[in-house]
Amino acid sequence: MDIKSRTKEELQAEFKDWGQPAYRVQQLLEWLYVHRVPDWASMSNLPKALLDQLKAHYDLRTLELVRKQGSRDTTQKFLWRLADQSMIESVLIPANPTLYGEPSDRRTLCLSTQVGCAYGCRFCASGLEGWKRNLEPNEMIEQVLAVERWNHAESPATEPSEPRNTVPVQRLISNLVIMGMGEPLANYDNLLKALRILNAPWGGAIGARKITVSTSGLAPQIRQLADEPLQFRLAISLHGATDATRNKIMPINRKYPLKELIAACEYYQQQRGRMITFEYILIAGINDGLDQVGPLTLLARRLNAKVNLIPYNDVEGLPWKRPAEEVQERFLKALETGGASATLRREKGHDIEAACGQLRLKTERELAMR
Ligand code: SAH
Ligand code: SF4
Repeated sequence: MDIKSRTKEELQAEFKDWGQPAYRVQQLLEWLYVHRVPDWASMSNLPKALLDQLKAHYDLRTLELVRKQGSRDTTQKFLWRLADQSMIESVLIPANPTLYGEPSDRRTLCLSTQVGCAYGCRFCASGLEGWKRNLEPNEMIEQVLAVERWNHAESPATEPSEPRNTVPVQRLISNLVIMGMGEPLANYDNLLKALRILNAPWGGAIGARKITVSTSGLAPQIRQLADEPLQFRLAISLHGATDATRNKIMPINRKYPLKELIAACEYYQQQRGRMITFEYILIAGINDGLDQVGPLTLLARRLNAKVNLIPYNDVEGLPWKRPAEEVQERFLKALETGGASATLRREKGHDIEAACGQLRLKTERELAMR
């Protein structure tokens, strides 16, 4: 097991068994989550005997950067290699790219939760080559730490110059969206453990309300998530407001049709008014017709959900296309006229905002051609 898949409580119990004083756990956690050291050798205030014991019991793994796309001020995609050579992606999104206006402090990281995806939505690059495995908690947590480590290395001037073991380094990432490769709720236990660690004050210290979990619609796990003490935000990849449309593009809808999905969302929403967003990719000729607007408006109003319209990112090798801007605007207008709360992502350039899964696919295809 990797040390970063352990919670503070688990480590406390273990250190107690080992006859180690409690403050050693605190010291270890600071090396991992404040200084984000990549190896045991950097943990200078831990005694050698304890380090040897830790090394004998645990791995301490980092992610290897294979490729990075995008520039400092815009969305940046990271392609990582895991210990078993699998590849995953993370995407760092500045809330307000300087390219389009004033820079903002908020930085969101989009995390992957699985290698590949088993759900096979027809429009998605992540599912194209099937599912390989679940990510372990440390592999999700490490996406945050590795991006922060990378940022630190790229811009040492903006970091405090005091000794590393006394000054908490300012965190780069303030928000998380679990919208990378994979279906997060199909890797439920590992996901929840990773999010608990990323949320804990001794770990990532990211507020639960700044964490959004996106799902293609696993109804039973949505109910399970509603019962968790931590109040994450939930995004539903809806992409169709009738079973006929959803069935065409999302095989999961045959297992959990809209009636069941919406009932689970209602349960989630009722648990102390938790926030839900409907993600709705607009795909030309598939789900961008005005026939979807009425049912979508009703669903959004019923759940008090916000609709997030996202123009489709074309994927190499797939026939789907992004609709013309007039069609996107018309769809938005019609939703608003019906009384739904909706936004349309108006980005320029498919390559900058390309969805997760595409960089991995491209790299794997290039490697296969060598
Ligand atoms: N499996 C989860 C989370 C990962 S997908 C889910 O489906 O919600 C994250 C989001 O990206 C989903 O809303 C998904 O539908 C969307 N997406 C996938 N491929 C896309 C593409 N080519 N263009 C735009 N959005 C895409
Ligand atoms: Fe999997 Fe989500 Fe892509 Fe569907 S949209 S194939 S659930 S990653």
